[in-house]
Amino acid sequence: MKRQTGFTLVELVIVIAVLGILAGLAIPYFMEAREEAAKKECLANRTQIMRMFHAQQASNYNGTLVGFLAEVVKEPNDNKYFNFVPKCADNGTYSVSNEKVVCSIAEHNEANVSDDASVIDNITNDFQEFLDKYGAMIDQQLKDLGWWPTYASGVLVKTNDGFREAYYKEKGKWPSGVDLNGNTIYFKFHLTADGSFLTYANGNGDFKNSGDWGTNYIYDSAAKKWYYSPQGTNLGGISNSVDKGGKTEAQIIDKIKNEGWEEVTLTGNTFSK
Ligand SMILES: [Zn+2]
Repeated sequence: MKRQTGFTLVELVIVIAVLGILAGLAIPYFMEAREEAAKKECLANRTQIMRMFHAQQASNYNGTLVGFLAEVVKEPNDNKYFNFVPKCADNGTYSVSNEKVVCSIAEHNEANVSDDASVIDNITNDFQEFLDKYGAMIDQQLKDLGWWPTYASGVLVKTNDGFREAYYKEKGKWPSGVDLNGNTIYFKFHLTADGSFLTYANGNGDFKNSGDWGTNYIYDSAAKKWYYSPQGTNLGGISNSVDKGGKTEAQIIDKIKNEGWEEVTLTGNTFSK
């Protein structure tokens, strides 16, 4: 009897079929893993660009994010900020939107910034990021020293005015929206007695000192609701900042509700009744 060596045709067909099935299972998995890795790398690079930009600003870089981005993604890499070119792994191109670096490949971006519901979240996150960046310094100085000034981002920071001025200088503008009368309105923050901040809005587009604490629109961040009053109020009269023993956000919200402020809706960046 002849001893069989190698595979029979049937065995070969079965082996090839099994390999085919395994490949069919594995390829989509690898594709997905590769896409996921590219997305993560893209996000990490964009985060690095933002961090480097903020770090440079803190040491007196005066350029815009648009200019900074153009410099760091230029090839070949000859910028002084990175020893590699922080670009998208899937060849997406970067641009600036809402003060952030975004990728032209939509799925690479964390959140859809034009999503209506997220507009106020983006604004308050932006305020919070700013507070996180300088907050420890502010907190330490104000708690220990009262009104003593400290220095951040090239401007004098003391209490609400200085802190808000620092934000305005760093960002170059306040986030804007449309008020009940169709006029442009600007979103701002006011530090409260517990060290957190209250978001409010008024019609002044530039930076002013304490004269800019007047508002007809106040945001309750706990309930995610806006309140409006045609008379309005001056936040300076309600709550000076942490060093002045003023009110917390919750106390301010209670106060304006008792005064009859009415609830209004912010859709995207536009107020309506
Ligand atoms: Zn990308």
